Amino acid sequence: MGQEPVVRTLQNAITGGQVRQAYLFAGPRGTGKTSLARILAKALNCEQGPTATPCKVCHACQTIAAGTSLDVVEMDAASQRGIDDIREIRERVVLQPAEGRYKVYILDEAHQLTDAAWNALLKLIEEPPPHLVFVFCTTDLGKVLPTVRSRCQTFVFSRPRLPELVRVLRWVADGEEIDVPDQALALVARAARGAYRDAVSTLDQLTAATGGAVTVQSVLQLLGAVEEEALFRICDLVVDQDTAGALTFVEDLAEQGQDLGRLVTDLLEHLRHLMLVQHMGEVPETLPVTEETREKLREQANQLGEATVLRLCDLLAVAVEDMRQGGDPRLPLELALVKVTRPAADLSRESMAFRLEQLETRGPAHVSAVAVDRTVAVPEPPTNEPPPLKPSLELEQLQEAWQRTVLPVVEEKSVPTAAVLRSARPARLAEDTLTLEFPAAASFHRNLAEEPKNATLLQDALYEVTGRRLGLAFATGEDDEERPAADEAPLDEEGVLELMKDTFDAKEVEE
Ligand SMILES: [Zn+2]
Repeated sequence: MGQEPVVRTLQNAITGGQVRQAYLFAGPRGTGKTSLARILAKALNCEQGPTATPCKVCHACQTIAAGTSLDVVEMDAASQRGIDDIREIRERVVLQPAEGRYKVYILDEAHQLTDAAWNALLKLIEEPPPHLVFVFCTTDLGKVLPTVRSRCQTFVFSRPRLPELVRVLRWVADGEEIDVPDQALALVARAARGAYRDAVSTLDQLTAATGGAVTVQSVLQLLGAVEEEALFRICDLVVDQDTAGALTFVEDLAEQGQDLGRLVTDLLEHLRHLMLVQHMGEVPETLPVTEETREKLREQANQLGEATVLRLCDLLAVAVEDMRQGGDPRLPLELALVKVTRPAADLSRESMAFRLEQLETRGPAHVSAVAVDRTVAVPEPPTNEPPPLKPSLELEQLQEAWQRTVLPVVEEKSVPTAAVLRSARPARLAEDTLTLEFPAAASFHRNLAEEPKNATLLQDALYEVTGRRLGLAFATGEDDEERPAADEAPLDEEGVLELMKDTFDAKEVEE
């Protein structure tokens, strides 16, 4: 199943009497290489044969299926006995098949044979006695010696797509009278990552564990996998910028015994799918998803901006790194969700760039309710300029970024320059020119800031943070009291509490 081109070619060879004596089956593990080799052996040795449709009931067919046929020898080249096995073959080739027409040797993991073993085999492959058929199976075609490859007919087995895997699982389930919904089969198939063998053996385990009635829940339990639905739900909450909702949802999943490490890796996989859809404009055929999921992926890829997907991937990478070091993924996962749903709470420089990018790439149509206010405030770029080239920038954002991001960037290059600029604040932004306002008492600072060396440093820093080359203008504030106090003034206790509540959904538990 799932290897139709290979099967067709072999069928034609059998019916046309053109069977070769050395085949090389190459392909990922679990795609049916040795299974097909056994079927080929049956086809050749069946009492009704050689036939493309072995009867499955004659003695030859049955012993081959049971692995007891004297004419079919399976060997694992990865085992220590590799070279001994080859010697044995060479000693026995003179013997005729016990009952069938052919002696079939199936060598698994053939790429692991030593050069010595291959050399011992080469002569046999070159001039094989007429009753001998070799099937070499390998997961690594590149490691098979060219001299061997040139003497074999090579078939490349492809990894099955999800629907094909589901079809096989359905066929097995119906044949074995296993009661299982399609949704559960899709989950099993997804976890098998393109290996028929893994998919079937997972189904086997599930059947044993559940007494023949497999449910979605039991699959999730066995695999520790996260239901696709949950991944879509988390991303929907991100679209809605619903921080509390996202955190509560993670809490619920943890309560239900969901492995949060698995959640992180599955979420990353889901984001990867969204990213592929966003950049390829279509759901790639190779993605292991069902038709229904395909549609949902398309929709979500539209709602969740490219910048958000990349940002969340970055943030989750931290959680993965933590897990590698044996850490708990929970906090980094929650932090990632807070940061991505509430960019304003994220003080890092990457976040500033992310917010600008978001404003730039997300059309208002895709912006969720919470974000709309902010987007509306974006000044329309002057019509004589092509808008997509520059991130649109708003004064409010620059003011917000001033202390947190811009000044630290300046400080990295020059501490005195940063000190001079600390008393200023962005007051106006128009026509690509930023006006910095200094308090009346700080005219000394203002004069220093205007010096070309300092002004250039600031322009570079602004460019680094915003991606825009801004002109600078300097002004002196009319009255110090006009300055909003909240911006730079240290927060009092009440203010800190408010910030905690606002940023982390903190609650006061004690006065
Ligand atoms: Zn038969």
